[in-house]
Amino acid sequence: MKLIFATANRHKVEEVQGLLGSGFELLTPADFGYTVDIPETGDTLEDNALEKARFVAEKFNLPCFSDDTGLEVDALDGAPGAFSARYAGDARDPQANLRLVLQRLEGQTQRSARFRCVVALVMAGCERLFEGRVEGVILHAPQGVKGFGYDPVFRPEGYDCSFAELSMAQKNELSHRGKAIRQLVDFLQRQ
Ligand code: IMP
Repeated sequence: MKLIFATANRHKVEEVQGLLGSGFELLTPADFGYTVDIPETGDTLEDNALEKARFVAEKFNLPCFSDDTGLEVDALDGAPGAFSARYAGDARDPQANLRLVLQRLEGQTQRSARFRCVVALVMAGCERLFEGRVEGVILHAPQGVKGFGYDPVFRPEGYDCSFAELSMAQKNELSHRGKAIRQLVDFLQRQ
């Protein structure tokens, strides 16, 4: 089955590739020569995920899914949340975003946080949302070089290392995205 993943993020594509079984041919808008930003104008992960999946499904007329992910930090009232990509400004600089989270948590001992991922599927008049979460804490300084985004400052519950110190397969086992994509695969396999 051909499936378009509405993203330009190669890290997400690699993670998802490792989660989809052999029955799926994973494509991205870039495979169709489309490299312009996909609109993402909502205030919630759900709205953004649906907006991206609808836009790409309509453009290429194939089943499409998207992922919108937010880091929710309790001591920051759930921020950066749906604004995780632009937390430190429109440059969408992952390093600046991560530094800003650490700066806003300086002196804070309550560091609980979670990644929440919403995957939207749009195909043949059907729309579905799948959600995955992983609880953890924000470290005091970045650790590890694997992964992407906020991974170096997020330590998942029950582990003594950051997401950026785990292999991709280990991260996929417990991550927000792994949980949401496994639900997507389960749904598609039952169609
Ligand atoms: P989006 O889902 O592409 O809009 O991502 C929002 C922000 O969260 C971006 O800054 C990403 O780098 C970051 N992000 C998304 N997924 C992950 C993840 O699995 N680990 C760490 N950061 C992530």
